[in-house]
Amino acid sequence: MSTHTLSRSIETLIQGQATSDGAGVKLTRVLTQDLQNRLDPFLMLDLFGSGSANDYIAGFPDHPHRGFETVTYMLAGRMRHNDSAGNTGLLQNGGVQWMTAGRGVIHSEMPEQEEGLLKGFQLWLNLPSQQKMCAPSYQDIQTELIPEVKHDNGVVVRVIAGEHHQQKGAVQKPQTNPLYLDIHFLSDDTANFSQALSAQHNAFVFVYSGEVTVVSQQKKQVAPLNQMAILKNEGDGVVLKGRGNARAILIAGQPLNEPIVQYGPFVMNTKEQIIQAMEDYRAGRLA
Ligand code: MN
Repeated sequence: MSTHTLSRSIETLIQGQATSDGAGVKLTRVLTQDLQNRLDPFLMLDLFGSGSANDYIAGFPDHPHRGFETVTYMLAGRMRHNDSAGNTGLLQNGGVQWMTAGRGVIHSEMPEQEEGLLKGFQLWLNLPSQQKMCAPSYQDIQTELIPEVKHDNGVVVRVIAGEHHQQKGAVQKPQTNPLYLDIHFLSDDTANFSQALSAQHNAFVFVYSGEVTVVSQQKKQVAPLNQMAILKNEGDGVVLKGRGNARAILIAGQPLNEPIVQYGPFVMNTKEQIIQAMEDYRAGRLA
């Protein structure tokens, strides 16, 4: 694999916070509101994962969004999406739903299973100010449409967004330029993964199985299971080491450097725009 002149190291480790959302779905909020400026353009990352139906069965009934994009990556289980734009879709094992809320959408996200494991991530990605009021859109990407790069050393990389070793991902977004990789270390021996990354882009790694090490010139740092490792903005890439069933997502993007004002499911640039969003929702103008 290619090497980098200078690879990033870990700046901070973040322990997610247990919370619930929707009609009472238990989840871990990994990227919380206080990190929105540090991790611009990313606004939120939730990990949901439970084999107990009571933790997820109530789902996320009808609720609105405005001003950003939601990216749901299902690792296991089935979830049904319905929205006010008339879109419907079934998210399942390995698939991704990329929803651009734009000026507004009302949708529901409900488990389509009564038992078994439901596991995945929901990432919120901001929209640049000039696109916050764009028409809503929706993309259902089934698992077989996500490009995979199978390296000789047993590292398999699913390229959800951005580009990995000349392989373009399923989604490209020019303004925020998101990179979203799901990295599987399949070998029993320790194997290297590398990715080119501009120092300007904010980036983090979240290990959801096993253990991964972040290798920079000076040190090797463990990225522990179920924690977010925020990477320093430095160098020109990142190198990870993992083995036997270690799995991690690597997420990076170009910051928008615009004011972020969030109220629940609305993320805009000013307080006035938030008040407008609430008025529009109450008046039924979001659907
Ligand atoms: Mn939602």
